[in-house]
Formats: sequence, C-alpha cells, structure tokens
Amino acid sequence: MLTSLYIHIPFCSQICTYCDFHKEMAKQSKKEKYISALIKELEYHRNEIKNVKTIYIGGGTPTSLELPLLEKLLITINNLIDMDNVLEFSTESNPNDYNLELILLLKKYNINRVSIGVQTFDKEQLKFLGRTHTKNDVLNAIKLLRENDFTNISIDMIFSLVNQTEDDLEKDLIEVLKLDADHISYYSLILEEKSKLYYLLGKNKISMNSEELEGLMYNKVINTLEENSLMQYEISNFSKPGFESLHNKTYWLNLEYLGVGTGSHSMYQGFRYYNPTNITKYIKMIEEDDFTFHTSYEYDSLNEEMMLGLRLIKGININEINEKYNIDILTYFPDLNKYLDQNIIEVNNGYLRFTRDGILLGNLVFQIFVEVL
Ligand code: SF4
Repeated sequence: MLTSLYIHIPFCSQICTYCDFHKEMAKQSKKEKYISALIKELEYHRNEIKNVKTIYIGGGTPTSLELPLLEKLLITINNLIDMDNVLEFSTESNPNDYNLELILLLKKYNINRVSIGVQTFDKEQLKFLGRTHTKNDVLNAIKLLRENDFTNISIDMIFSLVNQTEDDLEKDLIEVLKLDADHISYYSLILEEKSKLYYLLGKNKISMNSEELEGLMYNKVINTLEENSLMQYEISNFSKPGFESLHNKTYWLNLEYLGVGTGSHSMYQGFRYYNPTNITKYIKMIEEDDFTFHTSYEYDSLNEEMMLGLRLIKGININEINEKYNIDILTYFPDLNKYLDQNIIEVNNGYLRFTRDGILLGNLVFQIFVEVL
C-alpha cells in the first residue's frame, strides 16, 4: 500500500554554490503554469494518494513560491488526501521566507513539520555558499514557528565546509543547540558535479578538507548532538525521541512512495521511474493530458534495501531480509563476514548494523552492494 507522497517544487529565489538539486529561478508565469500542471498530476493520482500517511514538499524551495500560488497547491492537497490519516506533512523552507502570513498558511493546511535550510551560522561561509539568510532570520523563523505551535522543527546543517576548522564547527554546534530543534540533518559538504563549487575545485581555486579532518568533524557532530539528547538514528540524521522523520524512513526502509512534479522519482507497484526533468516538457505533456512521461529504470531491490537499511543506526533486520529474499545474507554477501571480523559492522538483537567506529568507514561496506547493482 502506498504510504508516502513526495511533491517537487523546482524553484528557488537564489542559487547556492554547492547545489545540484533540480531547481531554477523562474518567472511568475512559469511558476503558475507549473503549479497548474502539478495539480493536474496530483488529481490524476487521486485514488492512489488519498490515504497516504506522509507528505513531503521538497525542492527547490517550496516556501519561495508566492503565497497565493502555494495556497492553491495546499488546497488541492487537502482536498485530495484524507488529512485525518496523515501523520506527517512536511515542507522544506529557507529561514528568510518566514513571516506570520506564511506560518498561518502552513498551519491552516495541516503542515505539521518544517525543515529549514540553516546550513551554518558563519556569515562568511553563508555568503560563500550563496545563501542569502542571516542568523537572525533563523532565530526569528524558529521563534515565530514555536509561538504558533509548530512542535516538529527540523534544520539542515552542513559540516566540513571549505576552510572550516574544528573550532568553527564547534561554534556552529553551540548555535545549533541553542535552537532546540526537534530534528537535525547534518551532512558533510559534497561537491556535486553540476555545482559552482565543483567548478572552483577543478580550477584549484578551493580545496576540500582531508578525509581525516572530515572524520574528526563527523565524530564531533555525533558526540555533541547525542550528549544533548539528539540521538543519531541515521548516518546523517538526529532527533529528539519520537521525532524521527517518518517520510524519510519510507525511503530507508525501501517502502513504496510516489513522487509528483518534474524530476520526481517513484517506487510504486514494483517499478522505479522518474518524471521528465525538463520543466517545460513536464508542463507541456500535462497540459496535453499526456501522462505517459515516466522513465522506468532497473533496480535491484535486495541491494538497495541493504544499502538503505544500513544507513539506519538500528540496522537491518536479518530475518526479515532472509525471508523476503529467500537467502542467507551472510552467505549471499560473503564480504560482510570480513567487515564483521574487522568490527566495522556487528549483529545486535538480530539486526546487522554499523559499529560506532565502523560508521566512519561506511563506504567500504556500501561498496559491496554497489558492485552488484
Ligand atoms: S540548496 Fe536549496 S535553496 Fe539553495 S539552490 Fe539548492 S534547492 Fe535552492
């Protein structure tokens, strides 16, 4: 049964130097056409989505939409989906998008979780990353959200930024803790091929931190957050008890989800596919009532399930996998035994998981599943 719906808004009011997400800065007329197409796609899937348990609006930056346009989308979602069934309805957002009007709109249409792109508190780093918000924007956003009874606030942070030292990271962590967020996603900076930072790296204008420093920083993040009751439940995700992201767990547990909007991926009824990545093509096909735009692709369910499940700190339920795929995973993937012997992974209460030190060497283990994909 379909439990999760992802909705993609491919627009931003600024383009960050590290970002390779599917997004652009667009004129109002294009945004309007896009939202109309998106609504048509949602209506096309009305029977499949009416009982979903989690909804996630991502991007891009959904909250960069002008409010009437955002409201048009939210009205449709609320009309098509039985909101009494929905446990988690999230939107991504940027700190400087928040004002009382936006917050009341989110509340009116049952959004009960917000994810805010904070990234760092260092003014120079924010500028370097192409972010346009300030620390005060973050503080104001969270204050307003709390005053209006938002009880599930997540923030996105980045560590191992260009030239960032351990001391710099410590300063960021001090600010993070003051926010008292319920959930934190803390990723290391990754230079994606299509990003401006990747280009600068190629021209030797910037350099990345060594793996050793990145490892030290990752440890600092884990230790600091856990000492403050933000428990790590996934390689890059931390939460107060009871605030793990239900929507993202759909992905990590290899469960079915439907993605709508340009470039969105779906895993539904045994198939994997994605929508056209070209926004104009996506709009045109929908305007012509042509919903044959999915591109399917092969995937190996077992290998994906191993890769995704090991991202969770709890790990993979060995019996469930063995029964589901009629295998013995330690025989099927003999290299796992090597990493068990090296104490990189361990078996705990029937779950296969990374050890606390082993998590830093995750890529070694993930390689097993990439090679056979
Ligand atoms: S990081 Fe977020 S806000 Fe920045 S360009 Fe990418 S999607 Fe837009």
